[in-house]
This record gives sequence, C-alpha cells and structure tokens, in this order.
Amino acid sequence: MVGVVSVRSTEEVGRFTEADQRLLSTIATSIGVAVHNAHLFEEARVAREFAEQADEAKTTFLSTVSHELRRPLTSVLGFAKIIRRRLDEVLFPLIPEDDKKVARTKIQVSQNLDVVVSEGERLTKLINDVLDLAKINAGKLTWNMAQVSIAEVIERAIAATSSLVDAKKLELTRNVDAELPLITGDSDRLIQVVINLISNAVKFTEAGTVTCAAAKRDGELVVSITDSGIGIRPDDQPKVFEKFKQVGDTLTDKPQGTGLGLPISREIVEHHGGRMWLESEIGKGSTFYFSLPIPGEIGAPRTLDFNALVRQLRDNVASRQPRPQSVLVVDDDPNIRGVLQQEFVEAGYAVRLAENGRQALAMIREESPGLVILDVMMPEMNGFDVAAVLKNDPANMDIPIIILSIVEDKERGFRLGVDRYLTM
Ligand code: ADP
Repeated sequence: MVGVVSVRSTEEVGRFTEADQRLLSTIATSIGVAVHNAHLFEEARVAREFAEQADEAKTTFLSTVSHELRRPLTSVLGFAKIIRRRLDEVLFPLIPEDDKKVARTKIQVSQNLDVVVSEGERLTKLINDVLDLAKINAGKLTWNMAQVSIAEVIERAIAATSSLVDAKKLELTRNVDAELPLITGDSDRLIQVVINLISNAVKFTEAGTVTCAAAKRDGELVVSITDSGIGIRPDDQPKVFEKFKQVGDTLTDKPQGTGLGLPISREIVEHHGGRMWLESEIGKGSTFYFSLPIPGEIGAPRTLDFNALVRQLRDNVASRQPRPQSVLVVDDDPNIRGVLQQEFVEAGYAVRLAENGRQALAMIREESPGLVILDVMMPEMNGFDVAAVLKNDPANMDIPIIILSIVEDKERGFRLGVDRYLTM
C-alpha cells in the first residue's frame, strides 16, 4: 500500500455515492501508479549512480594496477633480453662443450630464459589489452579518425604478422578488390583489429592457408580473415567475443593468449559503426568478418545481411541472465516473423508473434513474455511508441526489449530504455 484516499462529509450522511467511490478509486489507482513510478525512478537513479561510480572505480583501479605492473615488467623483460644476448654472445662461447653435464645445463639455461622472455611478452600484451579495454569502456580512448584505405590497413597488418605466418610455414593469400572506396576510421586501431584476426588465424591453424579478403558489399566494406585451422564449435562461437574467454580444450591446450583480442576488436569495429561476426566449422576452419560503413552510402537492404543479424540476435538473447523462456516477436513483415520464429523455436524458446504494435501490447497484457524483439517501422504504432508504453508501465517495465531496425536511431531507443538496438 502506498497511501490512503479518505473523504468525509460533516454535513450529510451518505454524501458519497457508489459513482463517487468508483471515481475516487480510479484516481487512487492513477496516483498509486504515479507514486510507484516516482519511487522506481528514484531507485533506478540511485542504482545507476552507484553502478557508474563502481564502474569508474573499477576502471581507475584496472588502469592504475596495469600501469604499475607494466613498469617493473618492462625492466624484467629488458634485463632478461640483455642477459640472453650476453650469454649467447659473450659467455656461452667460452664454455667448453665437451662436458655433457655442462652442455646440458647450457641448453637448459637458454631454454629457461626463453620462457621468461616469452611469458614476459605475453604478460605485457595482457596488460596492454586490459588498459585498452578499460579505456574503451570509460570512453577515454582517443580516436584519430581520418580517411583510411582498407587495402593499406590490410597490407600493414600482413607485414606486421609475416614472421608469425612464416614461422608456421602457412601460406598467406590476399583477395582484396581493387579500387575500394575510402572509409572514415582510425587506421592504427583498424590495423590492430586485422593483426588480431590474422594472429588468431595463424595461432589456431597447423597447416594450409590464411586468406585476407576485402570487398564492397551492400554499401559497406566487408573484411574477412579465413583460416584452414581447428575451427570453433557452434556453442562456443558466441563466447569468443566475451572478455577473457578462450574456448576449446583448455585442459590440454596451453593457453596462448589473453582472451581479450576479440572483445577489443569488436569494440573497435562497433565504434566505427560496423559489426563483427564469424562462420566456422570444426576441423575445417574459421572466417572472421567485420564490416565498416562507407560514408555517403545507404546500408544494406533489410534481407541481405539478415542471417548475420539473426545470429547476433540469438547470441544476445542466449547470453542474457536470467535466460528468457519466451520471446515475443513484433514485426509487420511476415518473412521476418517467420525466420525469427524458426530460429528461436529451434533454440528452445517459446515464441509468440505479433504483426503490429497494438496486437503486441494486447498480447503482452495477456501474458508477459521473457523478452520482446521489436521492429521500428510498422504502420499505425511504431516500435518506439510500443517501447515507450512498455517502459512506462510498472507491470511491464522490466521486460527486456531488443529493437531490430533499419532506422539508425539508437539514441532514441536507449532514451526510451530499450536494452539493445540492432540495425540491419
Ligand atoms: P586470445 O588472446 O586467447 O587469442 P581472443 O579474444 O583473440 O583471445 O580469442 C578468444 C578465443 O577464441 C581463443 O582463445 C580461441 O579459443 C578462439 N579463437 C579465436 N580465433 C580463432 C580461430 N581463428 N580459430 C579457432 N579458434 C579461434
């Protein structure tokens, strides 16, 4: 109970009729909802402030610790490399090889030092990755946006990784279309993305080829790195973009990285207004794709990249806590409803379909879904209006909403409180 409405008359017994009572109870309900909303709003505001502070504290902590770790690590690594060089150049040549024990010790010392150096390098990369991610999350990374040639980005990434490719005796091929348009981007960050993808391709491929391709597709540039390596299990595919996740058999495979390369790469691509996704088959290989918008061109018509989008959507729903049991799909296009229904039923959700906003609201009133997938452009009542109605009603405000749209108006979506905004 949030309050009491009390009326009395000192002049007349039975002054208030049943009609008055009804009116009063309607007024009381509205006031009750308003008071409840105000409470929730205040709670949400305090919670958000608290979360923002905690997040900032975490970021500051991470960057301070990383900086503090990086300094001593740099000297440890520097000295280890000097020691290795001195041993190789000055001391080892003086040691006679004829004593077996001495020769064995020499090899051991040399191998141990190699481990120190390579682990030191791995740690440095981890620290740099953590710093990068902390900066991206805090919005503190500075972006040097300029006109960028993607062919050049790829060439520079290939040059930077050529020793890795050679060391594993893999073949690297290029399939970059001539005369690709320039895009707007931060070329160093994009090179970092391609280096990450090529290094992963090399790391998880024992023999065969790594192919770097780039082409214009539906108003976007799509870059792909394909390998003929171990592949990634379907269940594991969404996980590779999670922070610190390394998939596969971690018991037998020695960890070889930080599990941060892909999350960082994805953040960088999304900052450019693009997307990152993958296709993979166990034992055959993997292709990692990313897209970058071409300035002045209109994005893909809605069906073309739909498969990637549906996958992205399914991954997003599957990774939610708590996992929703039922999904309501609201779209006026029967084909899209059909595809989404199939995908989500297959993935084990109960699916209901609505053709328009009004129908959706009626269905939600009947039975509350675990999640709503909402199209924006619908006749009569558009998706933003449906989201606004839901997010302003205490009974429904907790239902997560994912907007699926060709309209790039994320701002508006997030202002309304939608949880995720995916554009085709
Ligand atoms: P890491 O530093 O561990 O490589 P990433 O975020 O780059 O971190 O990758 C996360 C995980 O995704 C890897 O540990 C690996 O299990 C998997 N992975 C990434 N790229 C490939 C690939 N080309 N082939 C097979 N598995 C891959």
